[in-house]
Amino acid sequence: MTICGNREFALLKKIGFVRVSGSQEEKKAAQILLDEIQSIGFEGKEETFTVTDTFHTEGTLKVLEPYEKTYTVTCYRCCGSTPNEGVTAGFAYIEDMLEANLVGIEGKLVLVQGRMTPELYQKLLKAKVAGYLTFSGTIEDKEEETDLPTPIMRERLTKFGLMPALNIRAKDAMELVRDRASMVHFTAKSAAETLESRNVVVTVPGTEMPEQIIAFGAHFDSVPFSTGVYDNGAGSVILMELLRYFKEHAPKRTLRFMWYGSEEVGLLGSKAYVEAHREELEPYQLMINVDVAGAILGTDSAIVSAEQSLVDYTDYLFKQAGMAVKVKQDIYSSDSIPFADAGVPAINFCRFGAPGTAFIHDRRDTLSFLSAESLEKTTEKILLFSQQMINAGVLPVPRTIPQNIVEKIDEYLFKEKKEK
Ligand SMILES: [Zn+2]
Repeated sequence: MTICGNREFALLKKIGFVRVSGSQEEKKAAQILLDEIQSIGFEGKEETFTVTDTFHTEGTLKVLEPYEKTYTVTCYRCCGSTPNEGVTAGFAYIEDMLEANLVGIEGKLVLVQGRMTPELYQKLLKAKVAGYLTFSGTIEDKEEETDLPTPIMRERLTKFGLMPALNIRAKDAMELVRDRASMVHFTAKSAAETLESRNVVVTVPGTEMPEQIIAFGAHFDSVPFSTGVYDNGAGSVILMELLRYFKEHAPKRTLRFMWYGSEEVGLLGSKAYVEAHREELEPYQLMINVDVAGAILGTDSAIVSAEQSLVDYTDYLFKQAGMAVKVKQDIYSSDSIPFADAGVPAINFCRFGAPGTAFIHDRRDTLSFLSAESLEKTTEKILLFSQQMINAGVLPVPRTIPQNIVEKIDEYLFKEKKEK
């Protein structure tokens, strides 16, 4: 059999709906993958895990003084709630954490900019603010074309205590400050729930060295408002096409294909997998992760979280084959991280869209800038590399993670831990 971009594109269309961590749609997408696996002739299995999140939040914001106007806001997931009747409070804008900004904010709803840090969060709690307001997008956004996200308040903040939090459009945030809003009424209703998310896993036994495992990974969840076909339905269908290939061409080493849920909320699927199978990771020789592909205009990259020798090997391999792939040693913010952190060398294949022609994490991530041909080309490159590894007489990948990569992973994960 040969790799077929049209078949990949057809599956991509099938899973091209919003499929957020812990949602029924994520479950539905997993079922589509399981059905496809079965049609190829394998038995896939689902491994579930829990995430803390919620789909039920409500928020309102009305300026009372010096003018009256109701604004569209969203309420953070998993944040604190106001009493049902809401809170009437003063309004203040704090540009940053400088002490001068934090004077006289007690009991007020404060507008902040940028990402909420644990440091500022604790200062706001200490200052006894009534809640805070963040903003999203740009002042150029057209309301009918951009969605107002419902961000999540993560545990790295909530562990200090709960506080109501709302999110507003950037243009409205600017209006609040420009028109000197001073008194507001707001409500926030949100409660964390335990939701179920899932990974889909299938194993292809090796014919000659079954005790060695090469893993393939791709996340299949999306963010809200996004059909997530570029990020990362594309990687998901590439994996399926590779699975189909190795059904016809039995691999010498064992292959484990994994489609992860909940990547978009903090690599939770791959973290859950590594956690649940920590004692069984020794046979894993290499993890091949695919995250973003299919862009018509763009470049293929291989980001190697392993020894330099694999970087050189991969570079030579693609040069020899006359295939354009930029190869470099680095970490990549995706599901390869938990594996590399557990000592499994990893390589990430990504096709980065040309600037202005590809979008992720909002409603612009659609099939409109992807093609079957692009999917096929990238898949062929990944297949070439994978075959070399899977059927090598001796695997040319040392099962070690070099110190510079260890440090980058630690920094990546430590930042999360520190912010927790
Ligand atoms: Zn992704």
